[in-house]
Formats: sequence, structure tokens, C-alpha cells
Amino acid sequence: CGIVGYVGKKNAQDVILQGLEKLEYRGYDSAGIAIVEDGVIKSEKFKGRLAVLSDFLEANPIKGSLGIGHTRWATHGAPSDENSHPHLNADNTIAVVHNGIIENYVSLKEDLIAKGYKFKSQTDTEVIVHLLDSLYEGNLLEAVNKLTSIIRGAYAIGVVCSKSPNEMVAVRNESPLIVGLGQDENFIASDIPALLKYTRDVCILENGETVHLTPEKVTIYSPDKKEVKRDKFTVDWDV
Ligand code: GLU
Repeated sequence: CGIVGYVGKKNAQDVILQGLEKLEYRGYDSAGIAIVEDGVIKSEKFKGRLAVLSDFLEANPIKGSLGIGHTRWATHGAPSDENSHPHLNADNTIAVVHNGIIENYVSLKEDLIAKGYKFKSQTDTEVIVHLLDSLYEGNLLEAVNKLTSIIRGAYAIGVVCSKSPNEMVAVRNESPLIVGLGQDENFIASDIPALLKYTRDVCILENGETVHLTPEKVTIYSPDKKEVKRDKFTVDWDV
């Protein structure tokens, strides 16, 4: 139900946990995080309060400055550690968080199982990461572009890949997602309050738009994959 993503120089774990805390009002049953640490994705996720995750991470911190976090409101698959997000591919190189519902996940799951993909959860979301695994040919943005021509439904999706530890890709359709702009750091989140501690410069993504983020640059693409010029605005209120 809530997404926060960070690419920059700071400790991603701290930024993401702070952000998820500010999204708690949206309601959730589980929370999780995936961070690229020394070229490897480290992920932790638990059913229950955000404090279960943050207490664990306090004792077992993940270092790294690229990551995504999620608070889940279960729609497909009961609340459990396994069904919590992020979801990872078999070789742990791609991690995905998702808000919303993938309407055609049943047939996609059958196709993926027929190709040999093994599912660890009961969620609709897990098809996304295995699809990305099957579509990835060295360029994360291209894989996400192919993905969005296959999946149907409501979604805000954040993706990181350990093979490109300097970038994050996100896409939205019918579920909210915003971009936060910083100095040598950039952010995604489901809602503005998640980012106000770090930046007040924000862009709103429109339906069907994809965003590519590095610490230095944010590029937004229209549903037909053309670069979009989006003016940022400055948030002048507090929470
Ligand atoms: N449909 C997904 C699930 O049940 C995402 C739910 C959400 O928006 O948090 O895992």
C-alpha cells in the first residue's frame, strides 16, 4: 500500500524506513525492504508492524544507497513473511515492490511456471519479478517497458537490479506515485509526506508514465515511451 525508493549517497535503509513511517496512515499488514549492498541485493520482509522490520534492521543493518521499501495491504495471498514485498527473482538480481492489483496474473503465472519459474508466494505481484527476469537483456528500463505491455491492472511499481546499482525504474497506472528531486539523490514514493524530510521538490507521475532515476538525473517517459518534460513544484506545507 506504500512505496518508497531511494537512489543517492545516503544510507538507503534510513531514508526508506523514515518514508514508510510517514505512509503508515494508508494502512498495511506487512513491511519490507531491498537494498543493493556491494553489488548484491539484501532483502528483509515481515508480516506485522513496520517496527518489526525496523527493529530487525537496527540489529542487522543493510548498508547501501540504492533501495526500495514497501508496506503491504494484502489483496492476493494472506499476510505473511513470504507474501510481503519486495519480491525477488531466483538469482536475487532483481527486486520489485508493487501497490495495486495485476488483473491478468493467473495466466501470466501459468506461462511462467511452464517456462520453469518457481513461485515463493501467493501474490499477484510475484509475476512481475519473474516476467522482468525473462525480459531483462541488460537494460532495466527496456525490461520494464516490455513488462508494461504485458501486465494489466492498477499498479505503482518500483524496481532495482543489482547489475546496475546506480539506477531505479518505476511505473504507475491507477495507483499513485510521485518523484522527489534532490541534490545527487532522487526518490520515489506513494505520497508526498514520505519525502518531506529530504526534499520539497516533487514531480507527480501521470497514468502510464515510467520514470528512470539515477542520483544525478530523473527522466520521465510517456506511455508511448517518449521523454516527457514535467515541471517540478515545491511543496510549501508541512505534515
Ligand atoms: N496486490 C499486491 C499484494 O497483495 C499488492 C498489495 C498492495 O497494494 O499493498 O501483494
